[in-house]
Amino acid sequence: MGKVSIGLRGWRFDEEVVFDDDGEFREREEIPKPDRQRLARLSILVNAPCNACWLIHGEEDKERCEVAAVVYGEPGHEVIVCAEHEADFLYWFREEGGADYAGEEAMQRAFHEWFADGERAPAGYGGMEHVDTASIEDLPAPSVPTGEERAIDPPEEGRRVDIREFGREYPTGE
Ligand SMILES: [Zn+2]
Repeated sequence: MGKVSIGLRGWRFDEEVVFDDDGEFREREEIPKPDRQRLARLSILVNAPCNACWLIHGEEDKERCEVAAVVYGEPGHEVIVCAEHEADFLYWFREEGGADYAGEEAMQRAFHEWFADGERAPAGYGGMEHVDTASIEDLPAPSVPTGEERAIDPPEEGRRVDIREFGREYPTGE
């Protein structure tokens, strides 16, 4: 069994931890807390605007922001970026000291500050080879049972998204 992403690329879950033998979501009590927290967080993030777009356009121009495609970092302190701005994040992470924040809540603020200062990846930055670039729309929909007992933890903010709408993706490399 491999690792899968659900809803957004980035966070990965052990397939057998999240899905049962029939490929259906496990009861949430069966899922270990860290994974459960990330799943709950994803239900908010899956339609949220890209952090970098938001820093450019601001709340008043929110409709111009791209919806995030990928998530990095810790739940509640994550960075979410659209496909275009993922290059900036990866450049920051790999070349500008971002990796020092791996696993730390401060990562989000550090990246936001770097980006808000006008820093960007160089044009044509070739940092994308290690990530799967399939769009959310291309992901196959998981087979998920209906019923509230299968629902994940409700988010503490924002609009709730039914996890049954999520796609899941099988990484091709790494
Ligand atoms: Zn963006």
